[in-house]
Amino acid sequence: MPFVSESVSPLDQAGLNRLAEAALAAIAGAASPEELGQLRRLWTGEQSAIAQANKAIKTLPGADRAQAGKNMGAVKQRLSAAFEARRQALDEAAASDKLSREAVDVTLPTDRQPIGARHPLELLQERIADVFTALGWTIAEGPELEAEWFNFDALNFGPDHPARQMQDTFFVDPPGSGLVLRTHTSPVQARVLLSRGVPCYVAVPGKVFRTDELDATHTPVFHQVEGLAVDRGLTMADLRGTLDHLADQMFGRGVTTRLRPSFFPFTEPSAEMDLACFVCRGADPGCRTCGGSGWIEWGGCGMVDPAVLIACGVDPDEYQGFAFGMGIERTLMFQSGVGDMRDMVEGDARFSLNYGVEI
Ligand SMILES: [Zn+2]
Repeated sequence: MPFVSESVSPLDQAGLNRLAEAALAAIAGAASPEELGQLRRLWTGEQSAIAQANKAIKTLPGADRAQAGKNMGAVKQRLSAAFEARRQALDEAAASDKLSREAVDVTLPTDRQPIGARHPLELLQERIADVFTALGWTIAEGPELEAEWFNFDALNFGPDHPARQMQDTFFVDPPGSGLVLRTHTSPVQARVLLSRGVPCYVAVPGKVFRTDELDATHTPVFHQVEGLAVDRGLTMADLRGTLDHLADQMFGRGVTTRLRPSFFPFTEPSAEMDLACFVCRGADPGCRTCGGSGWIEWGGCGMVDPAVLIACGVDPDEYQGFAFGMGIERTLMFQSGVGDMRDMVEGDARFSLNYGVEI
């Protein structure tokens, strides 16, 4: 760099031009911001010929100073513009270099295995359990392989009750073993009353079994949630209030329940529990959810039959209870519009992933 330290007069335009050209050539060759910084110090720093020439202006005769100032201004402006242009070019090159280094080839094959998803039926059971836990109830579970006595006798099913027949119940070999795959979660009522006594507020989510063929609306294995409350002074009003609260939590505020007289061996009086249609609220005769009736069936309920209380060692003159049960699959169908039971049981993770759940 022959011109860096060469001193030059601020009036020597040719000299200044040579200096500028040499500086511009060096700047254009700077390969990094660091190198550019060094060049800036070298060519415009205090020891540089340019700075020296600038200082020399004030030593000139007054008549020459204007021209000298003009010359120096022009040189400094050229250099400053060149430094700035080179800095921008280096920055851009660095950015695009970084982008190309970090680029991901989205066409490459992957060996990532989907890690699966929690099933929405499980999640819904947990949600229902949460609703009851918040009410101060406890959650209970019972065996899926159940004693016939708990599944039927304790719940006031007579020996000839049709539900015991082979077309409904999975009996367990050998014949006469006294064991069944439980047909409902209600036997846990009897187990809880016998083991924990009264007062008792318990919710029982779980798996149950019936000898149905798998089709769009039936499955041999499905889920129920059972509720049982036994205490002094409980009435149908308590039952109704509890169901309305659960309906609120499941389907949104303002969804109410309706009770229709029915019969179950273990409750008296008994009722079918309907939900006010949460799609049309009874206002659309063409509603596909409720068929225009304004109501959809959700489950069964009633006041615990005194015979059940007696079988579980509870005095029905002192204690009353209510119980209810509803299908979890049915609840999920209402909540999310799943139309086919088979989608729920086939175990395809894509079904569960639609619910946005992944572990
Ligand atoms: Zn409707």
